[in-house]
Amino acid sequence: MNIHEYQAKQLLSQYGVAVPPGDVCSTADEAKAIAEKLFAKGEKLVVVKSQIHAGGRGKGTFKSGFQGGVKLCKTADDVFEKAKAMLGQVLVTKQTGPEGRLVSKLLVAAAPAIKKELYLAVLLDRASSRPLVMVSTEGGVDIEEVAEKTPEKIVKETIDPAVGMMPYQARKLAAALGIKGDLINPAAKLLMGVYRTWWECDAAMVEINPLCIIEGPDGKDTIVAVDAKVGMDDNALYRHKNVQEMRDLAEEAPLEIEASKFNLNYIKLDGSIACLVNGAGLAMATMDIIQHFGGNPANFLDVGGGASKEQVTAAFKIILSDPHVKGILVNIFGGIMDCNVIATGIVAAVRETGLKLPLVVRLEGNNVEAGKKTLKESGLTIISGDSMSDAAQKVVKAVGK
Ligand code: GDP
Ligand code: MG
Repeated sequence: MNIHEYQAKQLLSQYGVAVPPGDVCSTADEAKAIAEKLFAKGEKLVVVKSQIHAGGRGKGTFKSGFQGGVKLCKTADDVFEKAKAMLGQVLVTKQTGPEGRLVSKLLVAAAPAIKKELYLAVLLDRASSRPLVMVSTEGGVDIEEVAEKTPEKIVKETIDPAVGMMPYQARKLAAALGIKGDLINPAAKLLMGVYRTWWECDAAMVEINPLCIIEGPDGKDTIVAVDAKVGMDDNALYRHKNVQEMRDLAEEAPLEIEASKFNLNYIKLDGSIACLVNGAGLAMATMDIIQHFGGNPANFLDVGGGASKEQVTAAFKIILSDPHVKGILVNIFGGIMDCNVIATGIVAAVRETGLKLPLVVRLEGNNVEAGKKTLKESGLTIISGDSMSDAAQKVVKAVGK
């Protein structure tokens, strides 16, 4: 689960990470009121930021033609105008895909004069099975591009999870960012705060891009998180009620929300062959074999180890609400699962949804004979696959590729 920038900044500030003061709103009048308060406190510039679960907002374009999902303003009236231009509009960025995202919330915050834009991220490194902190002096830009063209500009520090980030590691990273003198201690404190946010919130990723050196009110340099992106580890969400409440369903694909109600693991893809499979490993193998025989999977769908008739019906409905689907492949290995339960579910689902598309079913394992019999006796047009490759070839052929 991802959260919005303003929510990420709330979490980060609870761990002592400095962020520019500001507030979230959903109308242009509220945006203006927040800006008036900030200007009254002596801020010279205020930034209006579209809140969507995607980066690249600064360089994005609204479908209305309005340029930029992040705008700097010198007056509260200007904030009002910019907010009006963004709210209720669809913003397209490098990360949203062509369909873009509807902007219904804005973060209005103080916009300090930035002296230097840096990059900071904490994530889990699969290679070392340990937390990894990455920093770069090349902040504010596409980090993928930095990784590709100038990988030496990304400095990494592996953290021992048992002890957490040590102060010397934070200072080492600060030095790698070119931070000197009086700024080393506040920078180290910020790095430790970001790491603790990642660790204690069970985040999958925390990314601060840009992390900025700014001139503070006293004329001395300080360091603040100007942007923040946090992705949560869904398996640990149950222990963070405050984070669960940050879920924004408007940012999630409607079919994926429907699937989560039935405990189905569904991810929509771009192809034409829908698959309904039990077990994530088998689901991946099924997608691979469809592709191997020249087809394209329309989704990843894992009905889990003990799917019920209701789940199978829900799964069919979800699959069929994708207009790109031209055929369905059911691939079930009955370990715990009784193949006959699945077969009964398939028959009920086909009848209930009035399925017209080609359906290939491959059943194997526990009580498979009874399952096959149920399918046969249903009188429905179901193509039976003898093995995984046989079933995959049949469905690819049936959709005409
Ligand atoms: P993103 O495009 O979705 O990653 O959004 P960001 O929050 O990173 O904003 C994009 C760019 O806008 C940043 O890299 C900055 O250059 C600029 N920007 C964002 N917030 C501020 C701010 O508070 N002050 C100033 N001066 N620039 C900002
Ligand atoms: Mg950014």
